[in-house]
Amino acid sequence: KPIILLIRREMRLHDHPALFEAARSGAPVIPLLIRDDDLEGLGAAPKWRLGQAIEAFSARLAAQGARLILRSGAPEAVLRALIAEAGAGAVYWTRRYHLAGREADAALKAALRADGVGAESFAGSLLHEPWQIATQEGGPYRVFTPFWKALRGIGVAPPLPAPQELRAPIHWPDSENLADWAMGAAMNRGAAVVARHARVGEETALAQLAEFCDGPIEGYATGRDFPARLATSGLSEPLSVGEISPRQIWHAGLRARDEGRPDAEDFLRELAWRDFAWHLLYHFPQMEHANWRPGWEGFPWRGDSPVVERWRRGQTGEPFVDAAMREMFVTGRMHNRARMIAASYLTKHLLTDWRVGQAWFAECLTDWDRASNAMGWQWVAGCGPDAAPYFRIFNPVTQAKKFDPEGAYLRAWIAEGQRHPPDTALAFFEAAPRSWGLSPGAPPPRPLVDLAEGRTRALAAYETLRRAG
Ligand code: FAD
Repeated sequence: KPIILLIRREMRLHDHPALFEAARSGAPVIPLLIRDDDLEGLGAAPKWRLGQAIEAFSARLAAQGARLILRSGAPEAVLRALIAEAGAGAVYWTRRYHLAGREADAALKAALRADGVGAESFAGSLLHEPWQIATQEGGPYRVFTPFWKALRGIGVAPPLPAPQELRAPIHWPDSENLADWAMGAAMNRGAAVVARHARVGEETALAQLAEFCDGPIEGYATGRDFPARLATSGLSEPLSVGEISPRQIWHAGLRARDEGRPDAEDFLRELAWRDFAWHLLYHFPQMEHANWRPGWEGFPWRGDSPVVERWRRGQTGEPFVDAAMREMFVTGRMHNRARMIAASYLTKHLLTDWRVGQAWFAECLTDWDRASNAMGWQWVAGCGPDAAPYFRIFNPVTQAKKFDPEGAYLRAWIAEGQRHPPDTALAFFEAAPRSWGLSPGAPPPRPLVDLAEGRTRALAAYETLRRAG
């Protein structure tokens, strides 16, 4: 009897335990991806990027003589229909770790099993299951360094190979057309601009990893903080759709270290932050929506406003912040240092609720990751686990001097004031909706807030919290 392999964010043949086990059973395998509410609810950029990943993975499966079946609807109903149609005996999938996903998958498993259909879930998207790393008391970690030590101590299992063969069913079930799903429809800036920067598919991700580990990984320890340098791996995007697994990255990093590139150790540590984010989200699901630290609900956060809209549009008048916001709008990515600066400016200088920024990132990032985004925002805002103290307020001007000393990052993204702006900076104006009324020849935007004033205001707000506490 065929096994249905449910695909959500696992667009790869390698190190895909659910796929590996389904293939090993010797049964025919029917890969299925469902357009459910979860998929429909994605932000514009992650949805578009997922569409790209689906297309590439379909082609990869086709090269193996397999198909990716696409269907729309509520997962249980879609599955029941396909099980009946294909005479399938079991459904396999990769575990999800956010609360809604866990609850939905537990209910699905129970419903299928009650009907005598096998239902098995597998690991696959993390270095370790969130419960495998625990404190001495058996509880979750709240601070990264001890979590990291524990992870480093137990090591990481090697990745699984791609299955040698995928048995096809006698008849392939019908599939919907990906084009009809219009995965890029919500990209108001047109997917075409963002697409210039996309690197899509499992083979591309593997090549990207190999390239990074052969060279730039050495120099990562210091280079990773400079947004104009190509010093980081860029693997968050393929990771977010599962075109590559973290275990593959981990072991490639270990090899680089063993071959004499010691900065690989810093890289492994960064990679572990992703697992930490999921560890936290698994144990504290509220991290996604509520201030993690007690007492912060009383913080005088401001909500959305025209000022915030200027932040979204890269029009704050703070060059580092505007460069960051434009980079994200044009490429779907933003350098980690720039994320910290842009988020700090919003939550501190503009005193805005971090959830407003979190939502815009979820709309624009092609590497959107529910756990890393929530953790990143709470970390910067000061209310998160192991967070930077609120009173540590990044000054975007000083930060630019330190991490972009030649101004290369600012020149790459800010056209205003340049006689011959580069294509990257001009692409922003191509991407921006006409209704924003922007022009590269206009004078640079004026600062929304005086930095010293914004800082004083943020500190005063923090004082009210301390006094209340
Ligand atoms: P590299 O430096 O090459 O790091 C390798 C891998 O380690 C990354 O691909 C990523 O998986 C992981 N990693 C590195 N730094 C972090 C970190 N701080 N937190 C979690 N994982 C990390 N990352 C996302 O993947 N998706 C998000 O939606 C996201 N939102 C963020 C929001 C804010 C406000 C902040 C401050 C950070 C956010 N990050 C997010 C984390 C980080 O900025 C990106 O993972 C990183 O910039 C990706 O680039 P890279 O792949 O070249 O990273």
